[in-house]
Amino acid sequence: MHNMRKEHGQERKRQDKRTIRSFYKNKRAAMPDLLVGELSQQISQIVLASEWYQSAALVFFYYPLGKEVSLLPVICDALRQNKRAAFPKVVGERMEFYEITSLAQLKEGCFHVMEPDTQITRLVCEQPDVCFVPGIAFDQKGGRLGYGKGYYDRYFAHADRRQATLAGCAYAFQIVDELDTQAWDVRMDLLLSENGADVIERKNIKRDVSGNRFR
Ligand code: ADP
Ligand code: MG
Repeated sequence: MHNMRKEHGQERKRQDKRTIRSFYKNKRAAMPDLLVGELSQQISQIVLASEWYQSAALVFFYYPLGKEVSLLPVICDALRQNKRAAFPKVVGERMEFYEITSLAQLKEGCFHVMEPDTQITRLVCEQPDVCFVPGIAFDQKGGRLGYGKGYYDRYFAHADRRQATLAGCAYAFQIVDELDTQAWDVRMDLLLSENGADVIERKNIKRDVSGNRFR
């Protein structure tokens, strides 16, 4: 009886996640390109000005797809500054990160995403200082709703990868009060949007004097 109720609860959560996903996906798809570009620029500037980015040596990025927040200015900066920059490559149910030294080392892969060419790039085994995480929606506690495949949840489930600062990247409208998350959902340490970088209370990330915000 107890188990049945639990299973029913899980099924309801899956349904809820699907409904919320399609709502925010549609909302983002309706954004004019000009706005995507403008907000992505603002978000990139916030990152570039931050202490946590400037002090990072190894950074995990994602290559923007469609209307996702584009951190291309940050990616270019990282490559110019000789930071180590790595990108995800999807292999079946898993995701691995490969280090690139030039954008030319990316090529179109799974789901039309630009992925590192594994013939010429190196697999990164160590944990990053910062990992930028795309998402469909985030909540104030760092909860994240992804695309529904759990790639980031699985990647960061390993205990030895928990030290990384996970920075959820979103437009402000994608950040909600509370999402109904599940046990395996990894929490973000920072929420990035055009309104600033909000620290989620979990780790000792350096703050500026104004409190919660870096900007
Ligand atoms: P997303 O995070 O992309 O929104 P979900 O959180 O709904 O997706 O997870 C999608 C699937 O991935 C779930 O069915 C879940 O069972 C699986 N999953 C997530 N994390 C893990 C993990 N650490 N190990 C194994 N499977 C996982
Ligand atoms: Mg998840």
